[in-house]
Amino acid sequence: MQFEAVIGLEVHAQLKTKSKIFCGCSTRFGAPPNTHVCPVCLGMPGVLPVLNQKVVEFTMRMALATNCSIARLSRFARKNYFYPDLPKGYQISQYELPIATAGHIDIEVDGTVKRIGITRIHMEEDAGKLIHDPQRPISLVDFNRTGVPLMEIVSEPDLRSPQEASAYLRKLRAIIRWLDIGDGNMEEGSFRCDANVSIRPGGSRELGTRTEIKNMNSFRHVEHALAYEIERQKEVLAEGGRVVQETRLWNPEKGRTASMRGKEEAHDYRYFPDPDLLPLVIDGQWIERVKQSLPELPDQRRQRFIEDYGLPEYDAAVLTSSRQLADYFEQCLAAHDNPKQVSNWIMGPLLGLLNSQGKTISQSPVAAADLAALLDLIQEGTISGKIAKTVFEEMAASGKKAARVVEEQGLKQVSDSDAIGQLVDRVLAGHPEEVARYRGGQVKLLGFFVGQVMKATSGKANPKKVNEILRKRLES
Ligand code: ADP
Ligand code: MG
Ligand code: ZN
Repeated sequence: MQFEAVIGLEVHAQLKTKSKIFCGCSTRFGAPPNTHVCPVCLGMPGVLPVLNQKVVEFTMRMALATNCSIARLSRFARKNYFYPDLPKGYQISQYELPIATAGHIDIEVDGTVKRIGITRIHMEEDAGKLIHDPQRPISLVDFNRTGVPLMEIVSEPDLRSPQEASAYLRKLRAIIRWLDIGDGNMEEGSFRCDANVSIRPGGSRELGTRTEIKNMNSFRHVEHALAYEIERQKEVLAEGGRVVQETRLWNPEKGRTASMRGKEEAHDYRYFPDPDLLPLVIDGQWIERVKQSLPELPDQRRQRFIEDYGLPEYDAAVLTSSRQLADYFEQCLAAHDNPKQVSNWIMGPLLGLLNSQGKTISQSPVAAADLAALLDLIQEGTISGKIAKTVFEEMAASGKKAARVVEEQGLKQVSDSDAIGQLVDRVLAGHPEEVARYRGGQVKLLGFFVGQVMKATSGKANPKKVNEILRKRLES
């Protein structure tokens, strides 16, 4: 029997506000343990939480960017459980009335665009961090992270493969970064994902029994864990067994998932509305204000790059993979109005260089205006495209501007007809046999002669001129 996989993801993204969600403590990462704490985030008796307005606005940005409806009234709830990283004994979250519902984003896998539903987005607080001492039989707890704001994004079970799941996660992360509301760093835990997966006979509309996989901290882990889990469930069914609903942990060393807890041991969180917090009321004006403050979103910008600049879809997708890259492209374009040429140079030499140095576009050693000036030199015919690659490398290494590199290294293109004519004569005189063959009909040898002349000028001769003069001489 043919099975199809059904996947739904729950993503937790840390929001980069300066202070925590219900108190004024700093959210800065990497401070000494238990220095960013106060009676509120430590859950002392008698204190009251106060909602951070920025957390609401950041979540509203995400909700609008993912086509969700924003609830005019939402509510915070207590999710009760006992664990040493949770000083209050409950986590403040949203439950039956989340801030946003019923959105979607479009993902692309192998050239096919697919719409993935977003069930809900809600706000909650993060828990602390347990550190298990490998030397001693004790655990330590750092409460700096307690109360750091999180946004949970729950997808519909619309994903059908590990590749789609990964594309969805990348898209969400790109939006979060684009909106500048979070780091989206999976390795550092500011972007975390639980994956729910089930299988069902192809064509069936019913959902199969799902398992929930935790502990994946990279996109690769998510893909591997899902692929493993789908295969495992298929085997269970093939052997006549049944998939049991449970939570499973991904073990990256073993490349397997293993049962963590079953349905019977699942927590009963006894959710109830938090009596310490008022219902959150958001009026139309506030939503309108946040809408106005949104930047042009990645999908819109990609479309505009295709329509306004005539770029191929592929270029437009690469250039809008981050807001900084899209900005860089348009800054270049402001000074050198040749979209495809600018795109080629960014996607080729520039991204190649950044990749090899492990840098992002914001750390580019060549500023947008300086790349544009280099492209001007090619267009004017001062240097050839080939020499420009050398100039570019020198610009990146030394921080010098294009004109100066060309000047210092004497890289100006030779376009002077007399000078090229002399070189051509010398090359032809040095290869009488090839000249005879050319004249006998082997016109492909033209490339050989061009190569010889270019070599004699270390690539500085204007190739168009070289071609012209060679043809003239050989055909006379
Ligand atoms: P819970 O809150 O108990 O984790 P939800 O019903 O809110 O459960 O679902 C959480 C996630 O699991 C959602 O992303 C949803 O799309 C997904 N999901 C629910 N049922 C299935 C299923 N049978 N197979 C795959 N994913 C599912
Ligand atoms: Mg869940
Ligand atoms: Zn605090």
